[in-house]
Amino acid sequence: MDCLFCEIIKGNIPAELVYEDEKVIAFKDINPAAPHHVLFIPREHYNNINSASKKDGLMESVFKAIDTYTSDNEIFKDGYRSVINTGKCAMQTVEHLHVHVIAGRDLAWPPG
Ligand code: AMP
Ligand code: ZN
Repeated sequence: MDCLFCEIIKGNIPAELVYEDEKVIAFKDINPAAPHHVLFIPREHYNNINSASKKDGLMESVFKAIDTYTSDNEIFKDGYRSVINTGKCAMQTVEHLHVHVIAGRDLAWPPG
């Protein structure tokens, strides 16, 4: 299987890691949409939120990791946005479930 984020997990493609635990890692987005933009991914490969949600506890691990990371970091004190794009019309470009965590500026709503 050819998956960019699995290659990052294996260390074959460099990334700037900001968080890791037994089940989840997070790294800086290569094309940040805000001053702070990181991606949380499970170490285990799932294509999207639908397949990942079928694995008991998997999404809980991802959201707990986000909780730990954002709770410890001053940059999130005024809030942040978490986004999961799924499929073509949402412009999902990497088919390994990832949660964008975006902060550091005022964020408009609705998104484009
Ligand atoms: P999505 O469009 O929701 O699938 O998001 C994929 C994200 O992965 C985009 O925001 C990209 O900028 C980001 N991305 C792609 N390649 C890399 C990489 N090598 N390292 C870090 N982030 C990446
Ligand atoms: Zn993968």
